[in-house]
Amino acid sequence: MNQVKAKKNLGQHFLTDLSIARKICDAYNEERVGKVNTIEIGPGMGVLSQYLFQREDLRFKLIEIDGESVEYLKEHFEIAEGDLLSADFLRLDLKKVFGGEKFGVIGNFPYNISSQIFFHILEEKDLVPEVVCMLQREVARRLASGPGNKDYGILSVFLQAYYDIEYLFTVDENVFNPPPKVKSGVIRLKRNNVEKLDCDEKLFRQVVKNTFNQRRKTIWNSIRGIDFDHEGIREHEFMKKRPEQLSVKEFIELTNIVDRLRNKE
Ligand code: SAH
Repeated sequence: MNQVKAKKNLGQHFLTDLSIARKICDAYNEERVGKVNTIEIGPGMGVLSQYLFQREDLRFKLIEIDGESVEYLKEHFEIAEGDLLSADFLRLDLKKVFGGEKFGVIGNFPYNISSQIFFHILEEKDLVPEVVCMLQREVARRLASGPGNKDYGILSVFLQAYYDIEYLFTVDENVFNPPPKVKSGVIRLKRNNVEKLDCDEKLFRQVVKNTFNQRRKTIWNSIRGIDFDHEGIREHEFMKKRPEQLSVKEFIELTNIVDRLRNKE
């Protein structure tokens, strides 16, 4: 069977360098304690999957939206019935994949939907202890960078609230077929021990989104989009700052202040 024809709308860039494929797989479940339930998102022609198949510490399911790739995988590998799902990861009920058990995620993500993949994972963050993935380098950096960095943004804060994130290495355009326009980066996320943030989580999301959506404004100017007694916060040291200067902890603090002031009669 021929190679799968790359489809741009599915973000298909097939990795051709086997040593990089192996390095990505090696970064996942490094302790090799198992059996660890694992989802691979977008296996394509199986460049990562072939190394996952060799691992005794993993019990995995491959989720692939592209019918042609699914056919290719069936033809080239022996995959047990039910371990290869022809499905859209974004529509997958993550509680059902392993019957409510936890699972890690690995993949060379389709770059066009990488943020949506993370928002979907965040909805079930307690089920997902580890993610190892390749993304567009800029996005990978953004997710891994802390406050004070211009790359730090909404998704960095949301993810870093629940995950420790490491930038592992950069991958060049020319090891893909077809080559993407940008460099890629591999990151690893590990769930921290925060079960629940020390504040109203819904308000936290609102505060983070509101301030970053006007990221060049000071917090004092952007926070006024939220309904509470603004005068009560005017003198606070955060008011002169910009959102990219606040850590997750400081966003929690800010959320609690807003919460107190919105509940005041
Ligand atoms: N892992 C392969 C392919 C990476 S390209 C490699 O490294 O070579 C991204 C893959 O994600 C493609 O196979 C694409 O078909 C698949 N994909 C795109 N959108 C998807 C979605 N919503 N759910 C599952 N897979 C998806």
